[in-house]
Amino acid sequence: MKILTLEESSEKMRKLWDDKKYPTLVYVETTNFCNARCKYCLYEKMERPVEWMTFDQFKFIADKVKERGLKIGAMFCFGEPLADKDLFNKMRYGRQIGVLTPYLGLNTNCSLLTPDKYDDILETCNNMTLSFVNTGKEFEKLTRLNWEQCYNNAINFIKYRDRVKPSFFIQIGCNDVTGHDRAKVTEAFKDHHIGFLYGNCRREALCEASQLAEITTLLDSV
Ligand code: SF4
Repeated sequence: MKILTLEESSEKMRKLWDDKKYPTLVYVETTNFCNARCKYCLYEKMERPVEWMTFDQFKFIADKVKERGLKIGAMFCFGEPLADKDLFNKMRYGRQIGVLTPYLGLNTNCSLLTPDKYDDILETCNNMTLSFVNTGKEFEKLTRLNWEQCYNNAINFIKYRDRVKPSFFIQIGCNDVTGHDRAKVTEAFKDHHIGFLYGNCRREALCEASQLAEITTLLDSV
C-alpha cells in the first residue's frame, strides 16, 4: 500500500469529505510511539522515527489552529496517546483556549490506563474508546499486549467512572479486523454500562511532530 505524503493525504481527504479547502479540522499526533504490535495495524511498517511532541510544539500548533478559526478534532493518529506523559497538559491548554472540539475523546489500547490518569481523562476528554478486538489469548496473539492487564485496567476505569462521573461516555472499539470476535468482547463487558463502536480499521496519519513546517504552511494557506 502506498503511504501518502501529508499533501496527498490532505487533498484526498478534502475530496472525500466536503470538498472544502483542507483542513477545517486538525488531527494532532502528540506521539507516534506505541507499545502494542497489533497484527492488523501498519505500525510495524511505519518508517517515520518515533517522536514525542513537546508542550511548546503543541502550543505553537494549537495557537495557530485557533488563529485560523479551526478546531482540533483528535489528539492521536498512530501511536498510543496515553504513552505521552504530557498529554493532559496539552489537552488542558487546548481546552483553555477553546481549540479542542467539544466531542474530543481518546482511543486507547488500555495497557497504560492506570489510576493516576483517571481524573485527567474525566477532566479533559468528552469520551473514551477502549480498544478490544478479541479476548484472552486471542487478544494477546493479535496485539502482543497482556489481556489480564488491559482488561483489568479497562474494568477499573469503568468502575471509577461509574462512581465519579457516570455521565462520561465509554465505548469499546472492536474493528472489523482479521481475528476479531465481537461476541466474546461483548460478553466480557456485558455487565457494564458502556457503548460499542464497530467499524473498519483504517488510519491515516495526517500530521506528525516532525512536520511542523509543513503543518504551518498548510494552516497558513487556509
Ligand atoms: S492498532 Fe493502535 S494499539 Fe495496535 S499497534 Fe496500531 S497504534 Fe498501536
